[in-house]
Amino acid sequence: MARPGNKIIQAKLVLLGDMGTGKTSLVLRFVKGQFFDHQEPTIGAAFFTQILSLPEATVKFDIWDTAGQERYHSLAPMYYRGAAAAIVVYDISSMDTFARAKKWIQELKKQGNPNLIMALVANKSDLEPDREVETEEGEQLSQENGMVFIETSAKTSVNINELFYEIAKRLAKAS
Ligand code: GDP
Ligand code: MG
Repeated sequence: MARPGNKIIQAKLVLLGDMGTGKTSLVLRFVKGQFFDHQEPTIGAAFFTQILSLPEATVKFDIWDTAGQERYHSLAPMYYRGAAAAIVVYDISSMDTFARAKKWIQELKKQGNPNLIMALVANKSDLEPDREVETEEGEQLSQENGMVFIETSAKTSVNINELFYEIAKRLAKAS
């Protein structure tokens, strides 16, 4: 039950990022608390909902995951349409995915709504020995674009709830 004065915010959230960076894994970890070492690349219809309660608001996320279309390095405009928030994901063990994250950000700026809340996610932080992208590089890119920045691991659960919590807080502030 929402408390009096507690806003209810329904927000479409989309995920972008190269294939294999862990988008589906992040969503499954957040929504179901699950992780699979052999996540099927094109699994599922890719629509999930999850509710997150903050003191100031209750946020109902409608989460749109890709079904592998990112393989073609682009996503249909209807995928972004109406989105209030977007998460751009790269893999800390792959500089290529970081370079591509810059492209995804540009695409969002072009196609997304002007008030879009954006987060840059450096996933697979458990692969520290194989790190190719320094934390500072991610921080800088996020700052240049006014994005939330966080390093996560869908595998070990590190910072997954924090990611969605930060987005929810920004949504509540903006609404
Ligand atoms: P997507 O193509 O971006 O949706 O990526 P997936 O969620 O399908 O993940 C691709 C592969 O990376 C799968 O084998 C996952 O098990 C693995 N993976 C996803 N997140 C992590 C993580 O945080 N750490 C590690 N080590 N592997 C991950
Ligand atoms: Mg996927």
